[in-house]
Amino acid sequence: MSLKINFNGTIEEDSRISVFDHGFLFGDSVYEVVATHENQPIFLDAHLNRLANSAQGISLTIPHDKNWFVQQIDRTLEAAGNRESYIRVVVTRGVGDIDIDPSSCLRPNVVIYVAPHKDYAQDNYTKGIHVALVSIKRNPKEALNPGIKTGNYLNNVLAIMEANKLGAKDALMLSPSGFLTECTTSNIFLVQGERILTPSLDCGILPGITRNKVIQLASEHGLPVEEGQWPPETLEKIDEIFITGTLKKVMPVTSLDGRSVGNGKPGSVTKKIMRLYDEYVQNIHQA
Ligand code: PLP
Repeated sequence: MSLKINFNGTIEEDSRISVFDHGFLFGDSVYEVVATHENQPIFLDAHLNRLANSAQGISLTIPHDKNWFVQQIDRTLEAAGNRESYIRVVVTRGVGDIDIDPSSCLRPNVVIYVAPHKDYAQDNYTKGIHVALVSIKRNPKEALNPGIKTGNYLNNVLAIMEANKLGAKDALMLSPSGFLTECTTSNIFLVQGERILTPSLDCGILPGITRNKVIQLASEHGLPVEEGQWPPETLEKIDEIFITGTLKKVMPVTSLDGRSVGNGKPGSVTKKIMRLYDEYVQNIHQA
């Protein structure tokens, strides 16, 4: 089990990036986090498509095609030899002048991290977690579109710091127009009786790959998800909450702002979605 870094195609134990890289200086980069099943990447095509969209969203030309990424990820996974891996793919604007203008950056840097994967503690799934609705707002779409997964995550860093101070594991943010958006690295779903609600993409959220799969699986099993603009008052009439993300998968939220959600235990709809998602991933390489 080991950590390997693939730096522009060269696999190393550890790597150094220039202090003149605009990814470091200005958060001028895009990235993806990919999970594995049986140490093979899952949803890789969707992640590489989103990486390409994010790059396009910040006018960054990635110097490699999808095949190159697939091959380099495979090589790096093999070199690391983990049971399960955490994969992080980062493309930075590259080295340039100490100047906000990126035109001096001639070549993006591509870094692929492969580390041993650590599962979240089982407690998170059996008991659920505490989330706080924080005062920090999600970036407005018109400023830095949350639909683009950039290396500029300061908005979310500030939000999770506020949540931590409130004793919560994650932060739920509102959009500048006052609608529910997402947590710092996950999308959110609310269960109200038979209804499952989730903020729509136009609220200014990341189009989560897990979110997308959950919407698909839920609707295939007779649980259609309603995407919309939900004001925070919606939270007052909610029976269950769960969040979704590549690493967290489907995680129940049983406490919101220190108050129990429903009966304070993962609810039946949440448990059903957790099971459907787990089953899907268990069989993913047979599909
Ligand atoms: N929202 C944000 C802000 C994220 O950073 C992430 C993942 O990192 C997600 C949602 C969940 O997306 P995915 O399911 O593709 O991991």
